Amino acid sequence: MARYFLLFSLLTLLSPAFAMHEHGAEEVTGWQYRWGDSPIVDGIPQWISAPQNVSTDWTDINSPVKPPNRDEHNTVWFKAKLPDSGHQYLHPVLYITSIDLMAEVFLDNKKIYQFGDFDQKDKKTFYGWPWHSISLPTDYAGKTIYFRVYSNYRDIGLWGEVKLFEQSNLLFYVLKNAYFEVLVALFSLFVTIITFAFSMMQKNDRHFLYLSAFSLTSALMLLSENHAVQFVFNYPLFRVYLLAISYYALPVFICLLLSSWSSAWQKNWLKKIAYFHGSYLVIAIMLSMLGVIELAPTFPVFDALFAISIILIIGLGLSMRPLPGSDQQFVMLSFTVYGIFLLLDMGIANSVLPWINLDISIAALLFALVLMLISLRHYSHVQKALKELNEHLEMKVAERTATLHAYAEAEQERAEQLHRLNMLGAKLEELNSRLQACHDLDEARKILIRKLPEVFLPVEVKVSASIENQPFDSVLAQIELQEVDGSYNVFVHILLANSSSRLLIPRENLDDLISRVKLRLGVTLSSIKLREELQRFSFEDALTGLRNRRYFDDALYRETQLSNRQQQTLSLLICDIDHFKRFNDEYGHEAGDYVLKTLAHLMHEFFRETDIPCRYGGEEFVVIMPNATLANAVDKAEALRNTIAKKSIEFNGEYLGHITISIGVANLSLHSLHSEQLLSEADKALYKAKQLGRNRVESVQI
Ligand code: GH3
Ligand code: MG
Ligand code: MG
Repeated sequence: MARYFLLFSLLTLLSPAFAMHEHGAEEVTGWQYRWGDSPIVDGIPQWISAPQNVSTDWTDINSPVKPPNRDEHNTVWFKAKLPDSGHQYLHPVLYITSIDLMAEVFLDNKKIYQFGDFDQKDKKTFYGWPWHSISLPTDYAGKTIYFRVYSNYRDIGLWGEVKLFEQSNLLFYVLKNAYFEVLVALFSLFVTIITFAFSMMQKNDRHFLYLSAFSLTSALMLLSENHAVQFVFNYPLFRVYLLAISYYALPVFICLLLSSWSSAWQKNWLKKIAYFHGSYLVIAIMLSMLGVIELAPTFPVFDALFAISIILIIGLGLSMRPLPGSDQQFVMLSFTVYGIFLLLDMGIANSVLPWINLDISIAALLFALVLMLISLRHYSHVQKALKELNEHLEMKVAERTATLHAYAEAEQERAEQLHRLNMLGAKLEELNSRLQACHDLDEARKILIRKLPEVFLPVEVKVSASIENQPFDSVLAQIELQEVDGSYNVFVHILLANSSSRLLIPRENLDDLISRVKLRLGVTLSSIKLREELQRFSFEDALTGLRNRRYFDDALYRETQLSNRQQQTLSLLICDIDHFKRFNDEYGHEAGDYVLKTLAHLMHEFFRETDIPCRYGGEEFVVIMPNATLANAVDKAEALRNTIAKKSIEFNGEYLGHITISIGVANLSLHSLHSEQLLSEADKALYKAKQLGRNRVESVQI
C-alpha cells in the first residue's frame, strides 16, 4: 500500500517533466474530407496524386471525425498539410488517439501505415481501438498526408487527437496521460484482493464479494482502456473485449451489491437491472465472438442502456435511505460520483459532449478509496471482535483453569480428609479396644480423658468429666451413657482446647467425627457399664445391698490366703438375729425385711472400709475383718450388738420394739488353717452364744 503511494507521489513529482516533453507536439490542422473511395490504379489511390486533387472535391473540416452528410457512405478520405514549423524531429511520428474503424495512411504517394484490411472489409471491420503512432519521414514538413478511412460503425474518422511528436516525446506523453490511471487500476486491484479476502472470511455475507467484483471490473476497465498498457500488451481487439466485459459488468455488480443491502421493493428492481445487464454482457460478447455481430456497435447501445441504468440505480439508491455514515451510504455516494463521470465519458465517446481528455480514473480512485475505507473499517471491526473474542476466550480459559484448580484442590482436600478419616478410624479402633479391656467405667473414663484427644488431632480437644470452669462455647459434645431407667448421664465432655483457635477441619467433618466417636465408643462404654452392673448384681444381695454369700465365699478364701501369706491376723464375725421367726410371725414378713435392711445399713456404717460385711443367708450376716485381732473383733462385735439392742424399730409408723443379735467371733492366728475351719469355728461360737441365752458375743481363738 505504502509502496503504491510512494510511486504515485514520485510520478506526481515527475509530471512537470512529462509536461515539458509535450511542448514538442504540434497539432495537425487544415483538415479536408471527401466522401467515397478513391479509384485505385496500380495499387495507388488516385485521390492522392496531385492532378485529381481538385480543391472542390474536398471540403474543409475542423477535425477529421464524423464529417457531415455521411448518407450511406462507409468510406471517407481525410487530408491535411503536415506542419512546417521548421521544428527538427529525429523520429517524427503522427499520434492518433483512435480510429473508427480502419484506415490507410498515405504520404508522398506511398502507403505509410495501415490499420485493418480494406480487402477484408466485407468480413471484418473491427480491429479494436488502439492509439496509433505513424512514423513519418524526416522530410515530412509541408507535405500532405492522406487518410483512407472505412467504418460501417456509427462513427467514422480519427477520434481524439492527431498530433505530431518526436517519437520519444510521444512515449512520455502517453505515459503522462496514463500513469495515474494505471496507479488507480493497481490500487483498485489491491482493493479487489482485500475485499475478496474479506468475502472469503465472511462466506455467508456477499457484500464484500460484490464489492470485490465491482472493484475488479473497474480496475480491468481502466487497464483495458489505458494507453500505456499498449506498450506491453499490444492486442487491441483483445483489450476491447476485456473493456467490453468489464464495462458491461459494472452495472451488474453494483446492482447486486445494492440489492443485497436492500430489503424493500428496490431489491427487485436492482436485481432486474443486474440480470438485464448480465444478459446483455453475455449475449453481446457471445454474438460478437461468434462473428454474428461486430463488437464495436454494442458499445453505444450499452452506453444508452447504462446511462438509463445509472440514473435508475442512483434514484433507487437514494430512495433506500441508508443509515448515515454506513457502508451503504459511502458506496452510494461514490457510485453517484462514478456514475456522473461515466455519463460524462459516454457523452464524450458518443459525441454528445465535446471531446475533452476526461480522466475517469479519478472517480474510480474515489470508489476504490471508499472501498478501502470500508475494508479498513471492517478490518478494525473484525480485529476488535477478534480481540474481544480472544479476551473472552482467555477469560474462559482462566475460569476453566480456576475451576480445575479448585477441583484439584478439592480432590486433594478430599484425599487428605479420607486419609485423616482412615487415621482417625484406626486411632478410634485402637482406643476402642483399649476401652473394651477396662474393668469398669472409672478406668474407661481415665483412658478417654487421656487418649480421646489424640483421635481428634489436628483439632485440639480436651476431654473432661465435668465442664465446671470451662467457657460455654468450648463445649463441642458430650458422650452420654444410658442408665437402667432409660435416662442419659453425661459420661465425659469433649471441649475445644482453645476455643478461639481456628478449626483445622471443616465443621461438618468435625461433626461427623464426633458422631462417629459417640457411636463407636458409646457402644463400648455401654457394654462396660452392663458388665459392671451384672457383676454388681451377681455379688450383691438384692434386699440389703450388702455383698452376698457367693461374694463372701470368694472374699473369705482370698483374705484367708492373704493373711496366711502375710502372717497377719484375720477375724470373722457371724451374726444371727435372735428369735427372728417369732418377729416375722408377729409383725409380718415385710417388717422382717425392713429389720434386715436396717441391720445391713447399720453394719455398712459401722465397719471400716477394709472390713467386708455380707449377708450370709436368711437373717444371718458375716463380717470379714482383715488385720483385726480377736480382742478388736470382740470389741467391735460387742459394740454392734449393743447398738442394735438399743435401736428401737419403727415400721410404717408403728413401734415394733427392739431386736437383739447373737455374734460368734473367730480369729485366725495359726496360719495353716483354711477358710472353712475359720467359718465353722465362728459358727460354733455363735451356737454357743445362742446356747448361753442369746444377745451376746462368744469368741474363739484358733
Ligand atoms: P434363734 O434365736 O434360735 O435364731 O431363732 P430364730 O427364730 O431366729 O431362728 P430360726 O432359724 O428358727 O428362724 C429363722 C427365721 O428367719 C425364719 C424366717 O422366718 C426368718 N427369715 C429368714 N430369712 C428371712 C428373710 O429374708 N426375711 C424375713 N422377713 N424373714 C426371714
Ligand atoms: Mg438363724
Ligand atoms: Mg435367728
